[in-house]
Amino acid sequence: MTQATQLQTKSAATFRALKCKECGEEYELKAMHVCEFCFGPLEVAYDYDALRRTVTRETIQAGPHSIWRYRPFLPVETNQPIDVGTGLTPLVRANRLARRLGLKNLYIKNDAVNMPTLSFKDRVVSVALTRARELGFSTVSCASTGNLANSTAAIAAHAGLDCCVFIPADLEAGKVMGTLIYSPTVMAVQGNYDQVNRLCSEVANTHGWGFVNINLRPYYSEGSKTLGYEVAEQLGWELPDHIVAPLASGSLFTKIYKGFREFVDVGLVADKSVRFSGAQADGCSPIAQAYREGRDFVTPVKPSTIAKSLAIGNPADGVYAIDIARKTNGNIESVNDAEIIAGIKLLAETEGIFTETAGGTTVAVLQKLVEAGKIDPDETTVVYITGNGLKTQEAVQGYVGEPLTIEPKLDSFERALERSRTLERLEWQQALV
Ligand SMILES: *Cc1c(COP(=O)(O)O)cnc(C)c1O
Ligand SMILES: [Zn+2]
Repeated sequence: MTQATQLQTKSAATFRALKCKECGEEYELKAMHVCEFCFGPLEVAYDYDALRRTVTRETIQAGPHSIWRYRPFLPVETNQPIDVGTGLTPLVRANRLARRLGLKNLYIKNDAVNMPTLSFKDRVVSVALTRARELGFSTVSCASTGNLANSTAAIAAHAGLDCCVFIPADLEAGKVMGTLIYSPTVMAVQGNYDQVNRLCSEVANTHGWGFVNINLRPYYSEGSKTLGYEVAEQLGWELPDHIVAPLASGSLFTKIYKGFREFVDVGLVADKSVRFSGAQADGCSPIAQAYREGRDFVTPVKPSTIAKSLAIGNPADGVYAIDIARKTNGNIESVNDAEIIAGIKLLAETEGIFTETAGGTTVAVLQKLVEAGKIDPDETTVVYITGNGLKTQEAVQGYVGEPLTIEPKLDSFERALERSRTLERLEWQQALV
């Protein structure tokens, strides 16, 4: 894009600086993510007075049917962002799951059907690549646990950007195919995510590429705030009492919090204390461990879990997630792989939603918190389902039934039906003894 066209499509920017979360030092709005003084993470700062003056419920509702209806709260200048229909996913009332768990007001925010690649990562990537284009990058990249590679490759294809993604070599087949189909360059690194991430930091320094979750991280992570905005808008401009969300780096969790606070600050919703509870897998639970032990530092671990999309052993935003869970009277819990599979099945059988291992983790933690009396049955509780089960089929292989193979004849069907009913009865009787 030339300088002139960029100027034409600029709108009044409401984001004004990158600001260090630790020491408050401010920086220009470039591609950088670490404070030069204290090495703290940088975050986008906004002019909230301007937002208060210009944004109303009506201006938001008049916007596009995507995350870009919240554009004044997102760190881009253009009013022609990359819009592939990302966001505004269903918030569904989960009555059958609620009854099973003993809750009264349960909702599911269903990003298993987010566009275009069926995970919440489409939100962060839409924002990061729009900003990458503004900053003049022609090649975009990421260090991914799977879903991020899918989103980056797909949205880069749509935007006509060159793309090279890095993944751990042992990812699920669906996540690998869900990247390769867009024909990016794919580097399958023989190592875990934390090693992939370290390699990518070096590449970012030497190649001048826009890594969505490294040098563009302050912009990228703002995209997750839309999961807060949407829930508030979909609840009729009200905040819930309690949210449960998965934790990998912890970024999503902290940004839902930031999103809620911003809506309160600019007067779009009434203030309310929302409890924040986080979910991890036992096989990679550095944040849950620190939380349980009352620590305010996170000790890195080596991941080993079927929840590969959450397998970050050295989580960048772990301490901030712990702080939010503590100050909101929430919790951070973890569950084992068997519980994750049971969580996937429970959500599918009660609500008709097939989620990936991250969603199974979140549902299983929800159940654990309810059983421990840590969620009040009356609380309006929102569970964030962040990814789609079709991408992690390996996880439930062998834990679901099999189709009944029959001949194309009525009597073959009748015999099979009778057999399956007998089998069901037997299983039922066995369950009773
Ligand atoms: C990346 C991811 C998360 C968590 O992301 P963080 O912001 O790093 O905590 C949750 N669910 C799914 C499905 C993901 O792909
Ligand atoms: Zn600093």
